[in-house]
Amino acid sequence: MLTSLYIHIPFCKHICTYCDFHKEVATLEKKKAYLNALISEIIEVGDSIKNVKTIYIGGGTPSNYSIKDLERLFKTLSSVIETKSVIEYTIEVNPDDITIEYATLFKKYNINRVSMGVQTINPENLTYLRRTHKKSDITNAIKYLRSLGITNISIDMIFNIPNQTMKQLEEDIEFVLKQDIKHISYYSLILEEKSILYQLVKQNKVTIKDQDVEAKMYLRVIDALTKQGFNHYEISNFSKDNHQSIHNITYWTNKDYIGLGSGAHSLIGNKRFNNVSNVRRYIEGVSSNTPYKEEYERFEIEDEVMMGLRLLEGINIKQINEKYNIDLLNKYPLLKQYLTDGYLELINNKLKFTTKGLLVGNVVFMAVMEG
Ligand code: SF4
Repeated sequence: MLTSLYIHIPFCKHICTYCDFHKEVATLEKKKAYLNALISEIIEVGDSIKNVKTIYIGGGTPSNYSIKDLERLFKTLSSVIETKSVIEYTIEVNPDDITIEYATLFKKYNINRVSMGVQTINPENLTYLRRTHKKSDITNAIKYLRSLGITNISIDMIFNIPNQTMKQLEEDIEFVLKQDIKHISYYSLILEEKSILYQLVKQNKVTIKDQDVEAKMYLRVIDALTKQGFNHYEISNFSKDNHQSIHNITYWTNKDYIGLGSGAHSLIGNKRFNNVSNVRRYIEGVSSNTPYKEEYERFEIEDEVMMGLRLLEGINIKQINEKYNIDLLNKYPLLKQYLTDGYLELINNKLKFTTKGLLVGNVVFMAVMEG
């Protein structure tokens, strides 16, 4: 039975320098056509999603849609899902989109968690990232949501921004901690090949920080947040008072989920699918009933190990060995090497990152894939 539903909204009002997500700036007409297609897809799969326990509307920027358009989407979801019984119903937003009217709409349709893309409060760094909000937009958005009883708010932050100083990082951390929220995702800015930033670096217009500075910043984030009572439960995620993202834990523990909308991925049974990552082809596919889903190869063991290692509690290798009838450390000798080198540790059958390992997580993940 499917318990988690992801909905992708691939539109943004502008493109941020670092972003490589599936998103675009689109005309109103295209956005309407997309919404129609998405609604058709939701209705088509209706029966299989009626009992989901988590819904996550992500993007792109879902709050890029008008209130009227979002209401159409929420109404459709409420017509197939008893949303009052959904444990975690999240929408991603940009702070400058959120007015009291948006917050009221979220409340009306039982959305109980809002994930806000803040990234930094430093005006130069915001401009550099091409974000359009100000500090006051963030505090206002939080105020509106809280005034309606939406208290489960998550904030996305970024460190390792080119030109960002340690002092600016401290100011960002201080600000975010002051908001008294229960969940923070703190990502290192990664140079993604499809991003504008990648082109700027290639043209020598931007220099990215060396790994030592990145590591110093990451360790500072971990230290500051954990000292304030946050539980560092995933490589980039911190929660207080049991506010871990239930939806995202579905991915990290390799459980089934369904994704709707262009580019959305699904894991159902033993199969992984994704909807075509092209808005126009997705709309055409849904409206003309031509295939828009592609199955792709599943690396069952590797997926389970890589996703599971993202959680700081690690993976139970005894269970994995029994489940797949393997000896994990012999099958992936590099994992054994990382264990010897102190990047991973094995305690009571739990294989997990050490602090040193968290700093090079990506290298370890590659090791798993390469076997
Ligand atoms: S980072 Fe978020 S808001 Fe910026 S372009 Fe990417 S999806 Fe859109």
